[in-house]
This record gives sequence, structure tokens and C-alpha cells, in this order.
Amino acid sequence: MPGLTERLLYRVAKRWIAGYSLEDAIKVAHNANSRKLRAILNRLGEHTPDEKLIQSYTEEYLKLLDRLQAEKIDGTISVKPSQIGLAANPSLYKTNLLSIIDRAEIYGEFVWIDMENSPYTEATVRTYLEILPSHRRLGVCLQANMKRTESDLKDIIARGGMVRLVKGAYPENTELAYKRRSDVEANYLKLMATLFEDGDHFGIGTHDGKLIDAARNLAKDHKRDFEFQMLKGIRDDIKPSLIEEGYRVSEYIPYGPEWYNYSKRRMRERKRNILLLIRSITG
Ligand SMILES: Cc1cc2nc3c(=O)[nH]c(=O)nc-3n(C[C@H](O)[C@H](O)[C@H](O)COP(=O)(O)OP(=O)(O)OC[C@H]3O[C@@H](n4cnc5c(N)ncnc54)[C@H](O)[C@@H]3O)c2cc1C
Repeated sequence: MPGLTERLLYRVAKRWIAGYSLEDAIKVAHNANSRKLRAILNRLGEHTPDEKLIQSYTEEYLKLLDRLQAEKIDGTISVKPSQIGLAANPSLYKTNLLSIIDRAEIYGEFVWIDMENSPYTEATVRTYLEILPSHRRLGVCLQANMKRTESDLKDIIARGGMVRLVKGAYPENTELAYKRRSDVEANYLKLMATLFEDGDHFGIGTHDGKLIDAARNLAKDHKRDFEFQMLKGIRDDIKPSLIEEGYRVSEYIPYGPEWYNYSKRRMRERKRNILLLIRSITG
């Protein structure tokens, strides 16, 4: 039985996560589909060097792919590299990623790779580029706060890869990353323009109204196959209007007992969420 603090935190976190189990995730994915949103399912958990745990996360993604297919869910999965081997060794990561991709390919499914903090960036991009020539239904997340991203993005576009562009959720130092909000946004706008001008098949992963409007404007001049991607429980006001306008929208749905770190990141993004937490504690 979880303690009181965990139960109170969970009450707030529940808006961002599906729940503890794969079954919870499947239910929430059906719910997203009923709102005309595609689902991107992610089993929470990261930074694990424990090979048994790595194996179990990998097997869970295989099960998830089977269930998505069996339940006819319009959706896919997104994996974290440090969850399926990168925190142990890069070759284990590659082996596990390939086994997940092989299963996805049986179903004609797409696989997204999340981008984590900077110790993993180089290996994540390198492995993606190694695998891409033989596995085209594979996309990777790139972060606008990272200074290297412009070069990664151009490289990936040139090789026909697919990118989900986000601002970046991890604290990084000034040598590697833009820290000021305005600098991150300016870089996001620049990278998004590159995606619309030179790329095709990409995800605009943001809840920021200014960036969403900028994407709408770019889409008028550049007919590209792209989708908006947002997190479960955030900007539920704007998701239906984008669908109404004819855009494709995916909802990223995390689940699993490891919901605490993920929820901390969502709290950090918005002061009002801390108030939500306090209100839930004070009743
Ligand atoms: C589909 C998807 C996948 C992602 N994958 C990754 C990844 O692999 N690696 C990575 O580093 N990051 C990832 N992120 C997170 C991302 O980097 C940002 O941390 C997150 O999206 C917040 O940035 P924002 O662009 O929404 O802008 P913000 O400036 O943070 O938010 C803009 C507006 O959105 C609303 N909003 C934003 N966050 C919240 C919140 N927590 N609660 C309530 N309202 C909120 C508010 O109205 C806010 O004013 C992903 C994000 C999305 C949408």
C-alpha cells in the first residue's frame, strides 16, 4: 500500500499518466482514439543499468505492440534509450531497439525514440542513424534547447529520417544548451522552419500557442506530412480545435509505477501545477 504522500502526489500526477499498468495504458489509448487523437504509448522508467530490468522493459514494449495491434488502436510506442540498454552498454541498447523495431515492422507500426539528457545524446543520434537505412519507420526526438540540434536535424533530414521536435525537458549546462526561454523558443522556431522547408514526416511536439501558430502558418506554404504531438493531460483545450482544422494530433501517454520523475518534470514546467499539488494535499 503506497504511503499518504505518494497517494496525494499520484492524485495530481494522474492527469499526465495513464496509470500503473499496461492495461491502464490501453484504456487511455482507446479514450484518445475516441477523441480522434492518435496514441503514443511510453512505459515509464529510465537510466537503468540493471540488465534484468532492461530485459523486462524491452519485453513490455513487445507486449505493448502486440496489444496495440490486437486492440486495433491507432497509435504507436516511444521508447527511452536508457531504459532499454543505453545506461548499461550501447550494443545492448541497439540489440533491444532492433528487437522492438522488428516486432513493430510485423504490424507495419512506427517506433519513436525519446531523447534524454546530454550524456545519452550522441549515442542516441548515432544509433538512430546507423539503424535508419534498413528501418525507415523510425523517428527520434530532438531538443531545441540543445546547441547541437541544428546540426543533428540537418543530418537526419538529409538521410530521410523523422524527427519529433520538442523544447527539451532536462536541465543542461550553458556549454551544451540554451538556457533562456526566449533563446530556446527562437531556436525552436528556426528548427521548425527547417523541418517545413527541407523535411517531411515530422512531429511538432509542443503545447506552446505561439509555436503552434507558427506551425500553422508554415503549413500554409509548405504541404508537409506532419502531426502535432502533445502530452496527455496538457492543452486539452487546443487538441480538438486542431483536429477540427484537419491536422493530425497524437497524444503521448506514459504509464508505469515509475511515474514520479516524469511528474516532477511536468510540475517544473508550470508553477500552477505546484498549486494543484498543494490544493490536493490541503484538500
Ligand atoms: C509528445 C511529446 C514528446 C516529448 N518527448 C520528449 C523527449 O523525448 N525528450 C525531452 O527532453 N522532452 C520531451 N518532451 C517534453 C518537452 O521537451 C517539454 O518539456 C514540454 O513539451 C514543455 O514544453 P512546451 O513546448 O509545451 O512549452 P512550455 O513553454 O513549457 O509550455 C507552453 C504552454 O503549454 C502549457 N503547458 C506546458 N506544460 C504544461 C504542464 N506541465 N501542465 C500544464 N500546462 C502546461 C501551458 O499553457 C504553457 O504556457 C515531449 C513533449 C511532447 C509534447
